[in-house]
Amino acid sequence: MKTLSNIIYVDNAATTPVSKPVFDAMAPYFCEQYGNPSSIFYSVGAAAGDALAAAREKVARALGCDTGEVFFTSCGSEADNWAIKGTAHKFAKQGKKHLITSCIEHHAVLHSMQALEREGFEVTYLPVDAEGFVSPADVEAAIRPDTALVTIMFANNEIGTIEPIEEIGAVCRKHGVWFHTDAVQAVGAVPIDCHALPVDMLSLSAHKFNGPKGVGALYIRRGVMPLNFLDGGAQERGRRAGTENLAGIVGLATALEAAVNSLDEKRARLARMRDYVLEHIQKMPQVKVNGPLDGSKRLPNNVNASFTAAEGESLLLMLDMRGVCASSGSACASGSLDPSHVLLSIGLPHEIAHCSLRISFGVQNTMDDAKAVCDALDEVVPAVRQRSPLWRA
Ligand code: PLP
Repeated sequence: MKTLSNIIYVDNAATTPVSKPVFDAMAPYFCEQYGNPSSIFYSVGAAAGDALAAAREKVARALGCDTGEVFFTSCGSEADNWAIKGTAHKFAKQGKKHLITSCIEHHAVLHSMQALEREGFEVTYLPVDAEGFVSPADVEAAIRPDTALVTIMFANNEIGTIEPIEEIGAVCRKHGVWFHTDAVQAVGAVPIDCHALPVDMLSLSAHKFNGPKGVGALYIRRGVMPLNFLDGGAQERGRRAGTENLAGIVGLATALEAAVNSLDEKRARLARMRDYVLEHIQKMPQVKVNGPLDGSKRLPNNVNASFTAAEGESLLLMLDMRGVCASSGSACASGSLDPSHVLLSIGLPHEIAHCSLRISFGVQNTMDDAKAVCDALDEVVPAVRQRSPLWRA
C-alpha cells in the first residue's frame, strides 16, 4: 500500500501541503486564541484583532501595497467573483456594460463572466497565441467607451504562461479602464509588487503557496472599489462581511511571507526540476510541450505536454500506480469529458488535448522526484500507447 511518505506529489498547481511553520502559526487560533476580532472590548477579542492586523501587515508588505488595500476572502474564486461582478455592477449604473477577458482564464473568471452575460452584460473573450499569450494590442483594440473592466490572469494554471501584465495594465491605464488580474498561480511563484504594477485589483489564494485551503485575498488599489460582494457585518472595513477565518488568515500571511522571503531560491530550485523534466520529455517520441519554451515566461514549477495516442486519464492512473500524483491536461478530472478549454485555445486538436499531462512541482519536491517522474513517464507512456489503436510509432 502506498503511504504519503512514498508518494511523489507533483500536482502543486492544484494545491500544496501546508508547511509545518504555517500549521504551527495557525494552531493557537482554534482553541486558545478563539476570540472574534470584532470583539474589541475584552482581551481575547482584542488579541484576535491584533493578530488580524499583524497578518494584514505581513500580506501588505509581501505584496508591496498598503494594509488598507488588502481584503481577505474565503478563496481565490471569491476574490475573482468580487472583483469582476462588483466592478460590472458598479459601472452598469453608468451604462458601462462591457467586459474584456481571455479565453484561457480559470473557471472562477469565465463562469463569472457567463453569469454576467445572462444578466445582459457583453463580454469580449480575447484569443491567445500558440503559447498562451494574450496580446496587449488585442486588449487595446477591444476597449470601448462602455468597457467597465479588463481581467487577464497573471499566469495560467494549466500551461504556465506568464502574461504580459505590465503592458496590458499600461493599455488599461491609458484608456482609464480598471484592470484586474487573477494571480492565484503567480503569487509566491514570481515577484509581484502591486504598487509598481499598473494593476487595480489582484486575486490570490493561500493553498497555492503552502498555506491553508479556504482563504484568499483581493488587493484593491486605493481609489478603486468594486461594489460589495458579501453583505452583512462591518468586517474588512465594511467591504466584505463575515467573521474572519482568523486561523486561515494567519496561515495565509505566514505562508506568503515565507514564500516571498525565499522567492529567488525557490524559483531557481523549481525551475531546475521543471527544466530537467521538459528536457527529458522532449527527447521522447511524438511529444509536444504546451506553453512557452522560454523559461522566463513560464511558471517556474509548470510542465505541460501532450503525448500522442497516450490518453491523459490512463497516464494519470498508471502514474498513480507508481506513486506519482499529477494532473491530466483535459478537464476529465473535474468530471467533464471535454478537453481543457486552455489546450483547445492554444490550437491543439481534441485528440491531442486529450493526451496531455500537467506536472507541477512544489517546495517539498527534490531533483530525485523529477528524475523519478521521468523514469515513470518512460514506462507509462509506451505502455498506454501500446494499447491505443491510434498509436503509430
Ligand atoms: N484562479 C486560478 C488561476 C486557479 O488556479 C485557481 C485554483 O486552482 C483559482 C483561481 C481558484 O482558487 P481557489 O481554489 O482558492 O478558489
